[in-house]
Amino acid sequence: MPTGKSSFRLFKVFGIQVYLHWSWFLVAIYEIQLREGRYSSVNWNVLEYVTLFLIVLLHEFGHAFACRSVGGRADQIVLWPLGGVAYVAPPRRPGAQLWSIVAGPLVNVALFPILSALWWYAKSADWVETMPNLFVYVFSIWEINLVLLIFNMLPIYPLDGGKILRSLLWFVLGPYRSLMAAAVIGFVGAAGFAVFAILAQSVWIGVISVFVFYQCFQSFKQARELSRIANAPRREGFACPSCKAPPPVGEFWICGKCRKKFDTFMSQATCPHCGMQFARTVCLDCGMPSPISEWSPGTFAKV
Ligand SMILES: [Zn+2]
Ligand SMILES: [Zn+2]
Ligand SMILES: [Zn+2]
Repeated sequence: MPTGKSSFRLFKVFGIQVYLHWSWFLVAIYEIQLREGRYSSVNWNVLEYVTLFLIVLLHEFGHAFACRSVGGRADQIVLWPLGGVAYVAPPRRPGAQLWSIVAGPLVNVALFPILSALWWYAKSADWVETMPNLFVYVFSIWEINLVLLIFNMLPIYPLDGGKILRSLLWFVLGPYRSLMAAAVIGFVGAAGFAVFAILAQSVWIGVISVFVFYQCFQSFKQARELSRIANAPRREGFACPSCKAPPPVGEFWICGKCRKKFDTFMSQATCPHCGMQFARTVCLDCGMPSPISEWSPGTFAKV
């Protein structure tokens, strides 16, 4: 997944920082050249490509605002050649997750009648004769929004459709088995994309297939780790200040410096391998970081 590190800061609105990944420019040049000839000037191709990412950005804001509306955190959006990534941390409840995901495609659903009306106006006003470039542009934007919506709703993890499927399965199977099931269905989807890429001789579909496969593999591993955490014994005398859950006993925290695993409650938030001290400890149940002193209200109150 692209992060803010290798990206340009574009702007910040409502406390959400929007980044543009460096690779976007390379692919933009390639894609714009590929589509040259649709318009009388290449400037229209540039405008079309930028508008595509404007639609992607609105979609990502849909995820971000929905996540906040259910009490989650959302402060970063990164645009990259495969679309956009909204870094959202909704509360770990299936309903909250579902709403944070559905709100993205809902933006495309809301844009559909607006863009359809614009296209209908373009046709009836005879722009095809008077303003042919604008006419093609209006049609392209209508088409892009619809293709984005349909593609994104495929039930293949980590596309939004796959994430919606996972949230729905969560109600029945719980958080870990639902993630595992979505990842397995995603593997089938990745294989389908690979076959389609060969048949259509499309590099892009091939890239998407590799991306889907990798993401599903990571999610599969994550689901296994989450179920190990859920089944681990809990440490007495400590409780998360946010959700009150006691932490699991075991090497479940990964040091941000040396990348080794350790049990942060054994060593008072210090990595035993490299000596790195951590100001805040992340709760593995709710995801909220808090200073380790606040995890132990009993001993804290005595001081
Ligand atoms: Zn989305
Ligand atoms: Zn917690
Ligand atoms: Zn370390």
